[in-house]
Amino acid sequence: CGIVGYIGSDQASPILLEALRKLEYRGYDSAGIAVVQENHNLLVRKIKGRLSNLELLVQQQPVEGMCGIGHTRWATHGDPSDINSHPHTDVSGSIAVVHNGIIENHAALKTWLEKHGVTFKSQTDSEVIAHLVDFHYNGDLLLAVMETVKRLEGSYAIAVVCEDYPDRLVVARKDSPLVIGRFQGCNLIASDVPPLLGITREVQYLNDHELALLTSDDVTIYSMDGDKLEREITHVDWDI
Ligand code: GLU
Repeated sequence: CGIVGYIGSDQASPILLEALRKLEYRGYDSAGIAVVQENHNLLVRKIKGRLSNLELLVQQQPVEGMCGIGHTRWATHGDPSDINSHPHTDVSGSIAVVHNGIIENHAALKTWLEKHGVTFKSQTDSEVIAHLVDFHYNGDLLLAVMETVKRLEGSYAIAVVCEDYPDRLVVARKDSPLVIGRFQGCNLIASDVPPLLGITREVQYLNDHELALLTSDDVTIYSMDGDKLEREITHVDWDI
């Protein structure tokens, strides 16, 4: 299982698919991507099975856009299926989330969200995250994710995109790995270093209880309380 994300000036989907290939060694039962188009449309393609299934789906139903997230799933809550595959979206389909890990308090959060009128589509623990981000979203994606992760118990590496912002990618982690890759004109994230190496060797490691806001030319790392954090850029000098 793994997550990836890309924001830059190239088409995101081939980069995301290639990055997911480099995470295959972690094992998975389904895969998916979400891409934000320049015209503020959020497109999701996800499917049970091998990455080749997803590649075929994207070939048949292409997604254009330069900002996106991707996922290979190792099911913990909910069978492997197209619907349970990530990314998961909020009710209106304007926010998409990929998640690795387990949300321990998902049942309580689901009950709370259902009381607030949310209808769930999947059987996963992860879907609560998309609805919580939507619930806390007031035009500021970073703030909405910050409020969301404060309510999550368990482990997570998450990446979030929103159709309002074809130029923003927000990530957060606790007890699941997440690495940021830095390059001129684009930035990336992944669960591990290998997917980044096709594009850059300059990486920043996100620690537990931290978030990051990525644009195509900047990365800012924050604490859960919104304080900006300094993080050295590490040069990776090994090969896969
Ligand atoms: N717990 C989530 C699910 O079952 C994420 C699993 C993963 O890390 O791939 O969908």
